Amino acid sequence: MNFQFTAEQRLFQESVGKFAQKFLADGAVARANSREYPWDVSRQLAEQGLLGLTIPVESGGHGGSLIDAVIAIEQVTLACPKSGDVVQAGNFGAIRTFAEYASKDQKERFLPDLINGTKVISVAMTEPGAGSATTELTTSAKPDGKGFRINGSKIFTTNSPHAELFLLYVRFGPGVGGIGSVLVERNTPGFTLGETSAFMNGETWQQLYFEDCYIPAENVLLPAGGFKKQISGFNVERLGNATRSLAVGQLAFNIASRYVDERRQFGRRLSDFQGMQWKFAEMALKLESARLLLYRAAINASTGLPSAYETAIAKLACNRTGYEVANDAMQAMGGLGFSEDCLVQYCMRRARGWMIAGGSSEILLNRIAESVFNRPLPQRQASLEAAQ
Ligand SMILES: Cc1cc2nc3c(=O)[nH]c(=O)nc-3n(C[C@H](O)[C@H](O)[C@H](O)COP(=O)(O)OP(=O)(O)OC[C@H]3O[C@@H](n4cnc5c(N)ncnc54)[C@H](O)[C@@H]3O)c2cc1C
Repeated sequence: MNFQFTAEQRLFQESVGKFAQKFLADGAVARANSREYPWDVSRQLAEQGLLGLTIPVESGGHGGSLIDAVIAIEQVTLACPKSGDVVQAGNFGAIRTFAEYASKDQKERFLPDLINGTKVISVAMTEPGAGSATTELTTSAKPDGKGFRINGSKIFTTNSPHAELFLLYVRFGPGVGGIGSVLVERNTPGFTLGETSAFMNGETWQQLYFEDCYIPAENVLLPAGGFKKQISGFNVERLGNATRSLAVGQLAFNIASRYVDERRQFGRRLSDFQGMQWKFAEMALKLESARLLLYRAAINASTGLPSAYETAIAKLACNRTGYEVANDAMQAMGGLGFSEDCLVQYCMRRARGWMIAGGSSEILLNRIAESVFNRPLPQRQASLEAAQ
């Protein structure tokens, strides 16, 4: 077992870190407080080759491994969390599932603009009646001539106010086997977006409405039977979510540890108090252990899709760590940490959302327990009754 990055990975980590600190750190607070998508950053990151990192070269990407993207997301987030979201969107978001399963024609139509940073793709699974129980989704795709008519609605879609393309989970037929996915472009007739709402992390979203929205057969990404594949692809997104959780925790820790080492109260540095020293030692323990789980999941996946168990345990550890560490860092900085002029409170709010998004902590615990007991642990009422 080797706990070191390769020389090449270390070089990459260093160069991305230097780039991010030099060009992205200065505007980090302003970006955190803005509800706009940072398109200028998106193009800048694309020029640096930091979007499409794990997408094969023949599809227009850079042919890297998952750990390359983890390194990039982590280093950019450490300078500017909002820019880290852009690296996520261009590597581990819906783009990765899309690139995994898209046809040659679909890749040619959509990937270039997603990789050059001028467009972004969102994943729309969650519906008003289907949250953790994704397979209860009702948005339907019914055959019509050479294509399909989409009817239904989606909520909480990240980047929905900015996305040009939506990877939509739909129902072609009954049951889990009837679920697949389609690609819907913004401005497609029959597709409208509702009022803009905001989460407490500052992220905005709009409800998506589909009324007899026609899409050609060429826009089907995965036909009926594709649900398992979609979730396997989604595990990559979960790793990106875990990476950003960990990185915002680390960023809050970095800012706060510098602060308490300078700030004086009662005639002493705050870092001279043992209560404070132990707080930071506990934070370091959480960050270091969560990072090992994250790197394990990414490195074991290499250029493929990560294991569901390793992803679940890494995401849970990183989500908890990111939130708890950022929250403690905020406490350590007193009123200043709670101010909108300071990134630390933003890191805390940002990390909190990831305990719900992309598989809540409870759903991850359910998944981990399945591996512990080596059997499926059905949650659905009907499955429980059938088992009794
Ligand atoms: C910041 C953010 C970004 C998001 N981005 C997207 C996106 O881009 N695309 C998208 O489709 N969705 C997105 N979502 C939605 C997200 O996936 C859902 O919020 C999540 O799946 C939970 O669904 P729900 O909100 O309906 O809660 P519910 O499913 O109603 O759950 C409520 C609570 O009950 C718990 N619970 C549910 N079932 C069980 C169980 N079997 N055992 C124990 N506890 C259980 C949950 O863990 C949760 O704490 C986002 C959400 C957030 C907060």
